[in-house]
Amino acid sequence: MRAMRLWSVRNSRGLMKLYEMFEGTIMVIEPLARKIGYQKLERPVVAVERNIKGLMFDCQMCGQCALSSTGMSCPMNCPKNLRNGPCGGVRSNGHCEVKPEMPCVWVEAWEGSQAMANGKFFDVQEPVDHRMKGSSSWLRIMRQKKDGTYPEPKESARTDIGKIAT
Ligand code: SF4
Repeated sequence: MRAMRLWSVRNSRGLMKLYEMFEGTIMVIEPLARKIGYQKLERPVVAVERNIKGLMFDCQMCGQCALSSTGMSCPMNCPKNLRNGPCGGVRSNGHCEVKPEMPCVWVEAWEGSQAMANGKFFDVQEPVDHRMKGSSSWLRIMRQKKDGTYPEPKESARTDIGKIAT
């Protein structure tokens, strides 16, 4: 739902704070999740994640959530699925060249990330791995953060502008 998606971008700062609290909570319950088994949890968590993020962000369940770097504007709603900024076809009114009625998700991402002011907009995102489509980002983040394998962008993966901004 596009109106809800735009609302989420407009309220990116508050949503980021909410997400940080949520992430803190899931890290506390991670040992329980591990005990139950991540595989067993995948299906029910995917159902919840799909509904909540589908409503709020038009989430496409790519499995590698980038919302905290994209001002709460889901990059998978870009018709070209670009993960590192807009193509050269953004219209003068800020709309998409493929879907003229839609604001470019990267114009929205810039506005949302200005409000979030976390400097992550300039992190270079990995190419999307389509094998993860349909899986839970929440569970992946939980497991990777606990195991120390979460791919936090390294200094070398930030643009020069990003290095100045952080
Ligand atoms: S980046 Fe991926 S997981 Fe995050 S909202 Fe978009 S499709 Fe969903």
